[in-house]
Amino acid sequence: MRLRDFPAEELFLQGSAACQGCPGSAALRVAFKALGRNTILCVIASCTSVLQSPFPVSALNLPTLNMAFATGGAVGSGMSAAAERLTARGKFKEKPTILVWAGDGGTYDIGIQALSGAAERNADLIYVCYNNEAYSNTGTQRSGATPYAAWTTNTTKGKEEWRKDVAQIMVAHGIPYVATASLAYPTDMFRKFAKAREIRGTRYIEIQAPCPPGWKFPSSHTVKIARLAVQTGMWMLYEHENGKTTYTAGTQRIIQGQAKLLPVEEYLKAQGRFRHLFHPERDEERIAAIQKRISDVFETLQFTHKMKEHIMDIEISPRL
Ligand code: SF4
Repeated sequence: MRLRDFPAEELFLQGSAACQGCPGSAALRVAFKALGRNTILCVIASCTSVLQSPFPVSALNLPTLNMAFATGGAVGSGMSAAAERLTARGKFKEKPTILVWAGDGGTYDIGIQALSGAAERNADLIYVCYNNEAYSNTGTQRSGATPYAAWTTNTTKGKEEWRKDVAQIMVAHGIPYVATASLAYPTDMFRKFAKAREIRGTRYIEIQAPCPPGWKFPSSHTVKIARLAVQTGMWMLYEHENGKTTYTAGTQRIIQGQAKLLPVEEYLKAQGRFRHLFHPERDEERIAAIQKRISDVFETLQFTHKMKEHIMDIEISPRL
C-alpha cells in the first residue's frame, strides 16, 4: 500500500478546531481511511473532544458519541453489544466497527480500569490511544505516558518517573491484536488499522502523537519529530498477534541492521520540553540514563534477530 493508494474519501473533514500541526487530526484521517464508513466512533474526553469543532458542526464525518474520561472500555463494550444485536435484527448489513478513540490521559490513567475490563472480556472493538504524552487539552499536565525528564506544567524540572507501557499491558491481556504506530510511517499505520478491522475481539492500537504546543516545537515539525522518535528508539513500531511480536517499518530496519539507531540527543534537542537537559548546562546523567535504556533494548533485539537468523526460530506465547 502506497500513500497514493489510500481511499480518496475523506471522513475527517476540513475546518477542524485542532492546533496547526496537530498529530491527532492527522492520525484520525489515516485511521478513518483504513476503517471506512461502516464505523461508529466513541471519543473519550481529550483533544479530540475539542478538535472535532463545537456543535452543530463537526469535522468527524462518522456517527460519534462523546463520552467521559473513564469510560472508553465500558462504553465501547456496550456499543459493540448493541451493534451486534442490531445487526442480527437486520438494521445493519454488516456489523459496524466500533472505534474507541482516547488520549493517553483517558487510557494510561483515568480509563485503564474500563480498558482492562473490556480487554479481559475480549469485547469486539478497536481501542486507539493517541498518545501525546500529557494532558494537552488542559494545558500540558503530566500523565502516566509522559517520558522521563520531560517538562510539563507540573513537572517543571522534568518528570522523575519512567513512563509505563500500556501497549505491553495490553499484550499481557492476551487480546488478539496489539500494535503501535507513528505519523511518520502512515502506510504502516494504515496497514495496521486495515488489519485490525478484519480481526474480531479487542484490538489495541497506540499512536505516538507529537504535540507542537505541549512538546514545544514548531508546528511544521510534527512528522519530523515522529520520525526522530522511531529513529532514536524513543518510540518502537511493532504488532503483536498470535503470541508473536513483529517489529515493523523504521524499528524493524534498525533491528535488522539496515538503519542506524540515532543518538537520543537528536530527538531530545529538537523539543523545548527537554531544554533543561541542555541549558544552562548539559545534564549528562539524565541524558545517559535515557540513552542506556534505549541501547539496552536494541542490543537485545539485534542480538535476538541475529540468533534467530543463524540458529533457530524461537516463538514464545504469552498465553499459557
Ligand atoms: S494540544 Fe496538541 S494534540 Fe491537542 S489539539 Fe493541539 S496539537 Fe493537537
